[in-house]
Amino acid sequence: MKSKHIAITGGGLVGSLLAVVLARKGHRVEVFERRPDIRKMKVVQGRSINLALSDRGWRALQEAGLEADIRSIALPMTGRLMHATTGALTYQPYGKEGQAIYSVSRGLLNQQLLACADDFDNVSLHFDYRCDELNPVSGTLGFHHEGQSVEKAFDHIFGTDGAFSAVRNRLMRNDRFNYSQEYLSHGYKELEIPSLPDGTHRMRHDCLHIWPREEFMMIALPNPDGSFTCTLFMAFEGKNAFENLRDAESVMKFFETFFPDVIPLMPTLTDDFRDNPTSSLVMVKCAPWHVQDKVLLLGDAAHAIVPFYGQGMNCGFEDCRLLSEWMDEFGDDWHGLFSHFSAWRKPAADAILELALRNYIEMRDKTADPSFLLQKKIEARFAARHPEKWIPLYSQVTFSHIPYHEALANGDRQDAIMREVMNRPDIESVWDSDAVEMAMLGRLSAPQ
Ligand code: FAD
Repeated sequence: MKSKHIAITGGGLVGSLLAVVLARKGHRVEVFERRPDIRKMKVVQGRSINLALSDRGWRALQEAGLEADIRSIALPMTGRLMHATTGALTYQPYGKEGQAIYSVSRGLLNQQLLACADDFDNVSLHFDYRCDELNPVSGTLGFHHEGQSVEKAFDHIFGTDGAFSAVRNRLMRNDRFNYSQEYLSHGYKELEIPSLPDGTHRMRHDCLHIWPREEFMMIALPNPDGSFTCTLFMAFEGKNAFENLRDAESVMKFFETFFPDVIPLMPTLTDDFRDNPTSSLVMVKCAPWHVQDKVLLLGDAAHAIVPFYGQGMNCGFEDCRLLSEWMDEFGDDWHGLFSHFSAWRKPAADAILELALRNYIEMRDKTADPSFLLQKKIEARFAARHPEKWIPLYSQVTFSHIPYHEALANGDRQDAIMREVMNRPDIESVWDSDAVEMAMLGRLSAPQ
């Protein structure tokens, strides 16, 4: 493969990993990031403070040779711990023994990935470079840098500049470029449970905490410094909604009603609620993701999804891994590579958006439902006894590399079977019986 001069716009999570992937293949890579160097910033501004990293992300990091760098900053979470309004706790493992998702700080992860990219002689990182122009035919990019306009030409351009991508914006002027953007009617606010004075956690730190409240929910992910970052997801407008939590009194009343167990753990609750932004959640779909052999979109620039499956970054990292594999197959045929990537990855991105939307309802509503918990127990038992026949949907998405659209289709089939099983009037007493197991095996072997 001939060495090429490549631009990456956006040195976020996906852009910095992509720089390593392309550098390892011997290309000359220049990364242009709008913000200052995050490694030199005291307070890292970003969307969520921490993220869940799972197997798809780990595999991409491993194949780029970066797994060890990131393991040291990741905290394992082996399951979800549901908090009822009464304070009762229910633990549900995410997968099999030894399987976990990992809480990582967005800022630290980005810093680490940029440092890894910076170690390559064939990578140049440029900060305070805001991309604002693109000529997708000539491969020229325009930047705004320290009050000046700068123009540079490249063999290939990768747009990894996030959900509000400037590169994608320019592609919208192209004939037959499809685009849609939708905001969820729910938004989010981050809050904090600080560490105890000795630096330890105030709750179990080996799980993701969820307070499911049907129409809304709060989650908490542990940080290595002993704190938890909590995220309250709920509607902007309506009865239990951000619009009605405007002062300390209404916030306290709301938390006393719905999250009484966290009040003693959040000494700065009302101040944080007032000071932290209420952020929106955007979903972006577009196609095609490429222009000839010149431009390719990856990560949120190509597919911004809602965060409820913890897969946005994982999906973007998987983009990098698959691109790397397909680069080896396509060699110097960059047009073939870009069109293949765009065509094969798009159904997967659409599917993970659909799965993430569905998971919001599952997390906030169904995780509090005893019948749902029983269903999960039946599935887990069946999967343990017939691992070749049944991988629970959550595991397909989180602990496997099955394309997301295949996972979605498998999940729909499993769901139809589980609906029948759960409809048995005696299911609570026979859930672990041979009869239920045989019925499931029968349904699985029936023609589809
Ligand atoms: P970004 O991380 O947005 O990076 C884009 C970069 O481009 C930024 O550095 C930006 O400054 C830069 N940029 C933008 N415009 C320009 C320009 N014009 N010129 C130059 N540079 C530019 N995903 C998970 O896998 N697990 C989770 O648990 C998870 N939780 C989330 C929770 C929340 C609340 C949210 C909102 C998202 C969550 N995600 C999660 C999704 C994840 O944050 C994104 O999918 C991921 O950040 C995408 O990476 P990216 O590099 O494509 O985009």
